[in-house]
Amino acid sequence: MILRQLFDYDTWTYTYLVADAESGAAVLIDPVMGQIERDLELVRELGLTLKYALDTHVHADHITANGKLRERTGCQTGVAEINAVGCADLGLQDGETLPLGKLEIRVIATPGHTAGCLSYMIGDSVFTGDSLFIRGCGRTDFQQGDAGRLYDAITQKLFSLPDETWVYPGHDYHGRTRSTIGEEKDFNPRLKLNREQFVEYMRTLNLPDPKLIMEAVPANQSCGQAVH
Ligand code: FE
Repeated sequence: MILRQLFDYDTWTYTYLVADAESGAAVLIDPVMGQIERDLELVRELGLTLKYALDTHVHADHITANGKLRERTGCQTGVAEINAVGCADLGLQDGETLPLGKLEIRVIATPGHTAGCLSYMIGDSVFTGDSLFIRGCGRTDFQQGDAGRLYDAITQKLFSLPDETWVYPGHDYHGRTRSTIGEEKDFNPRLKLNREQFVEYMRTLNLPDPKLIMEAVPANQSCGQAVH
């Protein structure tokens, strides 16, 4: 399995390029519009064929490159079906799998940061978007966020994966790059709380809105392309 972690320094977003080394079938997870040339160059240099561009959710902090990548490569774009993003080729649901050469992308619904948040499991790695972060989690105060649902998704679904599973989050604001499920069970302070304490903790975070929220959410509902 080929795996590259890419970083957008404007929005602190991680994008992941994952591919089956044998067939060259590749997926980009959470690609950022402003980084499309960088990402496509890497796909080319590694001799890969981009099959999919998948978002873990409808982002509020950056504009997705999904639509542009489809235009440039013919890949299929995907996001949770529940988001009803009409321009997406794939409306993804919990438990669904997508073939990626000899690998498989398993869709795990992990709602809570938004109602339509997905995690993607490929090989020994799970790409958690803004559900589970390293020693933290995504915020739950907009886009139908729901702290109780996030707690359930992380503790019941993600934490039932093998402890050695690599965790690759959608962001990290402290320069960390990856973790494991076992590490997060042991050391994630928010998930040490019980459900009620977690909900209360999330309710009182009082974070400012992301700078791009007014533009990014509508743009991402049309695959990152012009909104009319
Ligand atoms: Fe987000």
